[in-house]
Amino acid sequence: METTPPPPASVCAIHDGVPSAGTCSHCGNFGCGECLGTMDGAIVCKTCVTSGRVNPGLTPWDRRDELGFMGAVWQTIKGVSLAPAEFFARMSATGRTGSAIGFLALISIPAGLVNSVTGYFTNLALAPMFEPFIRDVYGPPGNTLSDMVVESMQPNAFSSILGLFLYPGIIVVYALITGLLCHLGLMLCGGAKEPLEATVKTTIYAYAVTFWAIVPLAGSLSWLWLLVVLVFGLSTVHKSGGFKATFAVLYAPVGCCCAIFGGTFLLAFAVAGLAGSSGAF
Ligand SMILES: [Zn+2]
Ligand SMILES: [Zn+2]
Repeated sequence: METTPPPPASVCAIHDGVPSAGTCSHCGNFGCGECLGTMDGAIVCKTCVTSGRVNPGLTPWDRRDELGFMGAVWQTIKGVSLAPAEFFARMSATGRTGSAIGFLALISIPAGLVNSVTGYFTNLALAPMFEPFIRDVYGPPGNTLSDMVVESMQPNAFSSILGLFLYPGIIVVYALITGLLCHLGLMLCGGAKEPLEATVKTTIYAYAVTFWAIVPLAGSLSWLWLLVVLVFGLSTVHKSGGFKATFAVLYAPVGCCCAIFGGTFLLAFAVAGLAGSSGAF
């Protein structure tokens, strides 16, 4: 540790009468050996670190002891949602990824609740409306396939409650898979300047925007905003430019959409064929 030699007779700003060991490069106060430390090669005092005046790469969530639990949660969600470039510029690329996973699981609880409740009531409202169409397509009551499809439309309290408990885990798994796919994308286009952990950590924090699924209609918009936040986050953390980050974020969903549309199309043909042939007997 390299310290500036203190001027004679200087004392620590915190500890009365304790001789100073140097000055804080951030606030300029004298500090004793106990009060000063180094961060990114610069001498800083404890007061500057705990107040968040110097940037130690911690997210508001990482500083929850100091900011208070609710304040830390809210500042993290707000930072990621409204100022992603600044949020990710301030975040250290690696470290505390496990804590980030805990954060994502926690803030997914309210969205999971809203998701289950709206899902249940949507089915409750739509099932009677859709039944005549399903019967038209798949056959009258008594037809096994027709009954199965009608039954699958019914609101189901058990699956809604199960969904509520599984939701946070599902979101975390989504985020981890997204992180892996994005890192692969960055590697493919030569934009991976940081290790895999950095991409995963960025992705996990970017998923904080899915918190807004608590507003039923904003839910789908929050998933679109996630893509934008991911581009900001990955280009900032990897310092690899918006173009490569955009590729890394979009190649997988675009590919998936094509696969899902193609798959649905084929499935619809298969089901129509099945229904057609069973109707012929
Ligand atoms: Zn200081
Ligand atoms: Zn001191």
